[in-house]
Amino acid sequence: MPNTIIAHPEATADTIRAADAAHHLHPFTNSHNLNIRGARVIERAKGVYLWDSDGERLIDGMAGLWCVNLGYGRQELIDAAHNQLQTLPYYNTFFQTTHEPATRLAQAIAEVTPGDLNHIFFASSGSEAIDTIIRMVRHYWALEGKPYRKILIGRENAYHGSTIAGASLGGMAGMHKQGGPLLSDIHRIRQPYWYGEGGSMSEEAFGIACAKALEDKILEVGPDNVAAFVGEPVQGAGGVIVPPENYWPEIQRICRKYDVLIASDEVICGFGRTGHWFGCESFGFQPDIVSMAKGLSSGYLPISAVAVGDRIANTLIKEGGDFNHGFTYSGHPVAAAVALENIRLLREENVVSYVANTIGPYFQAQLRDRLGSHPLCGHIEGVGLLAGIALVKDRDSKTFFGPDTDVGTVCRDHCFRNGLIMRACGNRMVLSPPLVITPAQVDEIIDKARKCLDLTYADVKNGKLF
Ligand SMILES: *Cc1c(COP(=O)(O)O)cnc(C)c1O
Repeated sequence: MPNTIIAHPEATADTIRAADAAHHLHPFTNSHNLNIRGARVIERAKGVYLWDSDGERLIDGMAGLWCVNLGYGRQELIDAAHNQLQTLPYYNTFFQTTHEPATRLAQAIAEVTPGDLNHIFFASSGSEAIDTIIRMVRHYWALEGKPYRKILIGRENAYHGSTIAGASLGGMAGMHKQGGPLLSDIHRIRQPYWYGEGGSMSEEAFGIACAKALEDKILEVGPDNVAAFVGEPVQGAGGVIVPPENYWPEIQRICRKYDVLIASDEVICGFGRTGHWFGCESFGFQPDIVSMAKGLSSGYLPISAVAVGDRIANTLIKEGGDFNHGFTYSGHPVAAAVALENIRLLREENVVSYVANTIGPYFQAQLRDRLGSHPLCGHIEGVGLLAGIALVKDRDSKTFFGPDTDVGTVCRDHCFRNGLIMRACGNRMVLSPPLVITPAQVDEIIDKARKCLDLTYADVKNGKLF
């Protein structure tokens, strides 16, 4: 291949798009369709805004992919990376060595996590953190003399990443269809999606019924065979599905009854998104082990972690010998330095209480007041700075669009054209803006979302969607 890009550093949006179509395979994308349309080239970002190569400004209602919690262009995070690159750009933590950034970050994470999640294992992505949890809890049970406790129980429509383990544990039908066979000894139960699946049940009765599904599953496979239950406090990629209030306490009661470990996948909920440092605190349960990623570094560099409670860690440390697991970039010093600075800023600027007491309540109230009665909008649910909007054909009879009607994608494309990034998860529109968003910027998101719901509704009226 001739070295065209390097020979022509003055790349334009068109040359970037052409090279993208020729060489870049995108994640979760129909490359054929993308290559025909051409990708939108994002050039720069500041605060809660992005600019594309046409100079159009977009307000980022998704904080990138649920991760840029402190917003774009924070000089402190840039300086943290720059300084660490100059001092020690890389060293591993495998062979009896450590370094200050990884150590201080482990300490900082232990300080902000609830309960006795005092021991931290590092990786680079949420998916790797999930793999780590699976390997670690099975290893834990083997050390406890119960190697038969291998089964992990997840949920339908859960998202736990895209490695073979993450895809297997998650409940995304589209992912299960490709690249299998999936990992064995994984089972799934129903999701606690009351608006979509609760029928005529009260929210409370539905919460109990969905937790009961866990007990039924544990009894079906045999309590002695179950290693852990894994769940997101709020399902993110599933469409921001907030469980009934009694769901997680009941799940916890059942797990304790059968000595099943609780793993909370906090990759989205962690670091203030729900108005607490971790989602489990918003939903009233104490996990034995936790995965975190996205918000850990506000997305500036890839880093993830597993926080391990004393029970598992003590066995691993005292009886485990070598744990034969880890990644070249476990505890990467530059990523760790950025994550440490990110946590320092979250604390110094009281971002978590800003979400809990100021901007979260404002965001939730404005969404309901200004979009709640829109004819396309069946139901709005959310917590902190997370929200999901169910798009329906008919509000009163709660009639959903047909499975072949991609109403979410149509709405998302209207948003994109009108300067708003709002993502579609099937027929649900989701929002997860940076935690530092101001009330005026929330208003801007909602103004634009309203306009785009109107445009989508016009498509429905014109018979373009059915
Ligand atoms: C994004 C996500 C993951 C996977 O993280 P990656 O960094 O993309 O591997 C896992 N769990 C949840 C809940 C997520 O939202």
